[in-house]
Amino acid sequence: MTADLVRPELPLRPELAGIAPYGAPHLHVPTVLNVNENPYAPSAEVVADIAAAVAEAATGLNRYPDRDFRALRADLAAYLLVESGVGLAPEQVWAANGSNEVMLHILQAFGGPGRTALSFAPTYSMYPEYARDTSTAWVTGRREEDFGLDPDVAVATIERHAPSVVLLASPNNPTGTALPARTVLAVLDAAARVPGGCVVVVDEAYGEFRRTGTPSALELLADHPHLAVSRTMSKAFGLAGARVGYLAASTAFVDALTVVRLPYHLSAVTQATARAALRHAPELMAQVGSLRDERDALVTWLRDRGLTVADSDANFVLFGVFDDRHAIWQGLLDRGVLIREVGPDGWLRVSVGTPQETQAFKDALVEVACLES
Ligand SMILES: *Cc1c(COP(=O)(O)O)cnc(C)c1O
Repeated sequence: MTADLVRPELPLRPELAGIAPYGAPHLHVPTVLNVNENPYAPSAEVVADIAAAVAEAATGLNRYPDRDFRALRADLAAYLLVESGVGLAPEQVWAANGSNEVMLHILQAFGGPGRTALSFAPTYSMYPEYARDTSTAWVTGRREEDFGLDPDVAVATIERHAPSVVLLASPNNPTGTALPARTVLAVLDAAARVPGGCVVVVDEAYGEFRRTGTPSALELLADHPHLAVSRTMSKAFGLAGARVGYLAASTAFVDALTVVRLPYHLSAVTQATARAALRHAPELMAQVGSLRDERDALVTWLRDRGLTVADSDANFVLFGVFDDRHAIWQGLLDRGVLIREVGPDGWLRVSVGTPQETQAFKDALVEVACLES
């Protein structure tokens, strides 16, 4: 009988055939500087506050959570007011399990078959995956030699492709480049002229690390209902493990996202965790200040040794240019330092760690690339 069994075929979507799941290599080495995490674990006070908040939430876990997470949205709006000086109503804030899910909601609401999402390369490698998973066409325009975006090139690219969604990472990953307000304004203006409409998402996952004088696109929200500014608690807040991302936009924009989210997508435990961490924003932001200083010092150190380094407004640095970047990457790994082989050919990206981790990176690089110590 078994000989007659038909082996069922799995009807995998053809565009997913042979694709490996996304993810940086997860290796156990002493110095992990490859995924732009905050190197500082939550302090004992933050841990205690989160634990108490989660215990409180646990008493009600027989019930579904507040599916509109109103208290968390109010807390996030209050945080953004302090961080960027921009006042928002809680209804203008949206959150999900990481800004990755926020982006997916955006593509589900505004992308889809027959529509196009556009970004400017090199940029975050997850964007094409959100497009693929929502059957949205994906196109990229180009950034300049210095990884900036020429407003005329951006406008012409938008006019050519008439996308429904434009994604701008600022500060950009993997380059660290922040966009000036006039570039974002040119993109917003071109998007407003796309027939059928186009939303612009400024992904500020690294926004808190921007240098003094670099603006946040939050300042542009009031005049642009087709703009969303996305943030995350994964980087500056040191809460990558909690999975909390959020965005600010017009209420019409946010209302569209409520349609596509799964019911109760943000657990009561997640909501409690995020709110407890937000109560500690001032101390966490002081830590961001020291990471910024470490970043600037690392840029100077690399440049002093003759390397090319992209200006960075983020908690990582893109540097090069190596004939054989893989050999450098491997040499660092052999010395217990994991960084990321990403970006244009010849470049490598290193996250800003603790002073000890940064020193381990420098020591290893001096050996591997034969630099002056
Ligand atoms: C790290 C990162 C994110 C954050 O992702 P989460 O899902 O919030 O952890 C978003 N955008 C960019 C460009 C990033 O590098």
